[in-house]
This record gives sequence, C-alpha cells and structure tokens, in this order.
Amino acid sequence: MNQPVIHQFSVVNALMAGLYDGSFPAREVLAAGDFGVGCGNALNGELVVIDGQIFRCTDDGNVTRGDPDELLPFAEVVAFAPTASHEFSARLDRTGLEAWITALAGNPNQFYAIRVDGEFEHMLVREPVRQHHPYRPLAEVMSTQREMTLPTTTGSLVGFWAPPIFQGISVAGYHLHYLDDARTHGGHTLDYTLSRGTLHLQPLAGITLRLPTTPAYAAATLISPTSDADIRRVESRSAR
Ligand SMILES: [Zn+2]
Repeated sequence: MNQPVIHQFSVVNALMAGLYDGSFPAREVLAAGDFGVGCGNALNGELVVIDGQIFRCTDDGNVTRGDPDELLPFAEVVAFAPTASHEFSARLDRTGLEAWITALAGNPNQFYAIRVDGEFEHMLVREPVRQHHPYRPLAEVMSTQREMTLPTTTGSLVGFWAPPIFQGISVAGYHLHYLDDARTHGGHTLDYTLSRGTLHLQPLAGITLRLPTTPAYAAATLISPTSDADIRRVESRSAR
C-alpha cells in the first residue's frame, strides 16, 4: 500500500528561535494537504486545516477563514484518508484518550494523522498573541498566550503523532489543535475531556520537509541545550 506522507513547512525549532515571518503561501500548503495544523504569519493565530479549508484561531477568541495569500511560518498537512476508526462512548481525559490512540496506532516510531470528532468538556485551548519585530523566542512569547476554556463543545481534534526522535523538527508526541463544529472557537489544545466521539487514524509513511530560504533562517541558531525542554513547555499547559 502506498501510504501518504506529511508535508511539513519549516521546522518547530525555527519557531522556537523566533522566526515568525511567513515563507510559505497558504495556498501552497493547501495544495499539499487538506488536513493539518500550523500557525499564522507573525504568530497571528493557531491554524486548523480541516476538510481542505484553513481556519485561524486568534487571541481575541475568534475564528476566521485563512487567507490563501498569507505567508505561513509553519504548517504540516497531509491528504487525509484515515484507514482506521474507533468509537469512544465513555468519558476519557486527555491522558486517557492519548493512551487509547497510542494503543490503537501500535507503532510509536511512525507518524499518524489523528482526527477525533466528538463532544468535549473543559476544552482548554490557547492562542498566541500576534508578534511584532524584533521577535523574541517562542518560550518567552508564550508566557503571554491567551488561554480559553470551552465548558462543553462539539467539534474536532486535528493533528499528528510524531515519533520522539523528531522533536525539534516537528513536535514529538501528540500535537492536536481543536476547532468546534460552529467554526467559532478553537486553538492549540492544552487539556480536555472527551465525552464521546470517533477517532479517525491514518498511519503515514514519512515526512517531506520544506525549509525557509530567508536570511533570518540562514542566520538562526536552531538548536540549543534547552530546545527540548522549551518545546515541552511551549506545547503544554505549563507554558504559563
Ligand atoms: Zn499547536
């Protein structure tokens, strides 16, 4: 079987280094895949790519449609064609759901695309605050992120599992964004409880990577002794 691959634009460590100016037109990202995650130019919102459309979740709590001409600093997408599904009818917290997905996926050393459509409680999402030059590293910027809890909500988790050895290129482990069915709320997920829902899972054969060609990228220091700890802090609830 010819498994699809993730198409990724830039690397997470470039964001960590404060490279928030976009390089990749959103329309090129969409041409590479109809499903995934990303972030807006100048960190203007978390992006959810679902069913071939880009939605931007911004720090004012709103969701708007992405602009196809916008240059994105980071995105990862896939042509979503799940090959397995699983119904959840009992409540599961985030840790419990992730443990289920890990068990159902079966191979922690490959990538998976993950979509969970369902009802959620206590959905805690965050959106970054739009940045202005001179940019500061992401670990500093995220101390100002906006967090919002949706008490009950119906929508979709959208994102990926990446093998641990890809930390810094991608986000190791689970990286899931959320968008509600009404397309009015969403963001990068920090915590939630699934009331009931359906997992759609797609194993992926690998990853293709496009790197920025900007002078800022050429001059950036992309790895430091604190890279791993910084990513873990930025991607989790303890970022605040
Ligand atoms: Zn994210």
